[in-house]
Amino acid sequence: MCANTFFLRLEGPLQSWGDQQSRFVVRRTSEAPTKSGVFGLLCAALGIERRRCAEGWLDRLGSLRMGVRIDRPGVRWWDYQTVGAGSRLRTADSTGKEGPLLSRREYLCDASFLVALQGESTLVAELERALREPCWVPYLGRKSCPPSSPILERPATDHPDVISALASVPWRPRLKGDLPPELLTCLLDWHPSDGLPRAPTGERVSYDVPVSFEPPVHRPRFVVRRELKVAPTGGVSIAKEPGQSATTAPPRPRADYANGRFRQRRKERLQTDRELCVLCKSPAGTVQHITYRRAGGDELLDDLRSMCRLCHDAATMVEYGHGMGIDRINPEDPKWRGKILAKRAEIVSFRSVENRRRRLSEG
Ligand SMILES: [Zn+2]
Repeated sequence: MCANTFFLRLEGPLQSWGDQQSRFVVRRTSEAPTKSGVFGLLCAALGIERRRCAEGWLDRLGSLRMGVRIDRPGVRWWDYQTVGAGSRLRTADSTGKEGPLLSRREYLCDASFLVALQGESTLVAELERALREPCWVPYLGRKSCPPSSPILERPATDHPDVISALASVPWRPRLKGDLPPELLTCLLDWHPSDGLPRAPTGERVSYDVPVSFEPPVHRPRFVVRRELKVAPTGGVSIAKEPGQSATTAPPRPRADYANGRFRQRRKERLQTDRELCVLCKSPAGTVQHITYRRAGGDELLDDLRSMCRLCHDAATMVEYGHGMGIDRINPEDPKWRGKILAKRAEIVSFRSVENRRRRLSEG
């Protein structure tokens, strides 16, 4: 049989699809599976070791067109990890570090994605076979994230393009009580050879096509957003003509604590602080709880402080190191200021080392 498209269902209690901003101490997740994460999963199913993937397999996989349908965006959540408490750990500069290494890892909880991969039919058949009897256990971005249903959604079929492939699979609830959304966002590969005179509006560049897993080297691809309409029965259809892609990004999945009352309080705090970080005076993108006593919507204005993301990440890491309870760090307190700024400098230097390394490996 000649089918050019196979389908993956990526859903589970947790998933985490790291992108280029996701290294070292603060490891974030993308809103949807990355090409690197999906190719890693396919290589694991095929039983190819990380360092051997670059010997041909990543080239073959690179010929596949990928589309991801966000059936359930999930909720973002953080995990706090320590490595090597009480021992002297070797660090990259070989000096070693006393005490544990700390990192924060972001996950998507209860998300569900439909992934369509389109390409040459023998390759599709080979990958489908591997996924039916995977050599190594598949996981959703990190080893700690097992899938909650079989990865293969349905047998491979033939489709003229990836968007019609994604529209051929009905939406289904991930959890009891999930109702079909009106629209489903899809993230699709776009290539200049697609016949459009210029790139569709709203296309973005993702640096997530793996050239090698060890060392990690990625090349860019264009990604466009399209929307699919969902009928109340779960049936899916193409909402707009190709080339007139829907460009509005859906809201990022928010954490549960971002309820209406908290959002209002957060807005007031940001206005009060003139939308500037209380520590470094950069534009503030978030607020820090200095106490969790009233967290969840009953916060007083004085329970929050406006902060930029970087200072907030730094303050959170300092808190972790001090085993704080319900009362947290007040970034305006001179006692904490120096510690937060030092941690902030550490994060910046981690990131710039990483950027330099990436530039070298790409150059
Ligand atoms: Zn700041």
